[in-house]
Amino acid sequence: MAIVIVVIVVAVLVVAGLAAFLLAPSRRARPPIVEVPPAPPAKPAIKPEVEPAVKPEGAEPEAAAPVIERPPPSAGRLVRLRDRLSGSRSTLGRGLLALLSKDTIDDQTWEELEEVLLTSDVGVAASTALVDRLRERVRVLGTRDPEQVRELLRAELLETLHPDADRSLHTAPHDGHPAVVLVVGVNGTGKTTTCGKLARVLVGDGRTVLLGAADTFRAAAVEQLATWAERVGATVVRGAEGSDPASVAFDAVATGRRDGVDTVVIDTAGRLHTKTPLMDELAKVKRVVERDAPVDEVLLVLDATTGQNGLIQARIFGSAVDVTGVVLTKLDGSAKGGIVLAVQQELGVPVKLVGLGEGPDDLAPFEPEVFVAALLGA
Ligand code: GDP
Repeated sequence: MAIVIVVIVVAVLVVAGLAAFLLAPSRRARPPIVEVPPAPPAKPAIKPEVEPAVKPEGAEPEAAAPVIERPPPSAGRLVRLRDRLSGSRSTLGRGLLALLSKDTIDDQTWEELEEVLLTSDVGVAASTALVDRLRERVRVLGTRDPEQVRELLRAELLETLHPDADRSLHTAPHDGHPAVVLVVGVNGTGKTTTCGKLARVLVGDGRTVLLGAADTFRAAAVEQLATWAERVGATVVRGAEGSDPASVAFDAVATGRRDGVDTVVIDTAGRLHTKTPLMDELAKVKRVVERDAPVDEVLLVLDATTGQNGLIQARIFGSAVDVTGVVLTKLDGSAKGGIVLAVQQELGVPVKLVGLGEGPDDLAPFEPEVFVAALLGA
């Protein structure tokens, strides 16, 4: 029995040894085990040409092709922007309506009404005239009904704004040359911004425009104008810093004529304290331009927040150049709406445009009916 067990054990050992011998070569031939990195994520199916190019460090950025904007047409802008007149409404409109909502209208009411007008920048002459006319109409009609008086007030405010005045901008080319618009005003009123916004208004309304940077004393103003022009694909004519503004204006009109542009808008200097008196310089700009083409519009830019000061500026500018229209800027801010009435009543020049914000399209053709309705919250 013991012999049998020994034989079995020996046989098992022989088989195991044989197996080990036979398997050994294949184990040696196996490649070494290496860490396989995870497969890279599959590339998205984008064609190489549309992948963003990687620029070498320090390389000049390529100039992006300018995107020419197409501003919206100007019609109806005041209606869209009327909420911006909230400052005007709170000082003037609310004051007026509060007074006229009283049960009875007596002498004190009329005095208070005049007071509200005066504190809202309407000015003495326009305030007195308005209250006198309103009072007379109320007397003639024999009404004490606040609702009716309110309607009369609306009509009187509208009358003060000369609703029938011609507020169109003369910007169409004629007699073989472009229309010429001179933009004048004291620095800080928003003159250069207005030139830029006006270019957008004109382009939006289908005109081709050239901007003349005749405020040659302020490099920043020239750059500002160039940026506005670039956005709407308009040309800019500029001179060297400190060059003669009249010659830049002349060149602008000549270039506009050569290029067949519809409207040339010229930004002028507005600094008050310099060697050459500003008014002489402006008169010269106009004279020189008119050797080549008539000036169709002289737009005076006034900052509505400066109140009666604006009227003084207007008289001074009016004595140097015939102002054909007023642009009242910053009516969106703390301006008291009365300044519109004062300007219209006392200058005899129509308010043609109003600035209602710093956005590029916040310049609107002035519409008396919309303005009065906004004032009275109608
Ligand atoms: P300029 O010195 O008369 O040429 O004045 P600018 O055009 O440089 O404008 C002076 C400042 O007034 C700028 O900050 C303009 O953005 C701002 N401005 C111009 N028009 C308006 C407007 O209608 N509303 C407001 N809120 N700001 C305006």
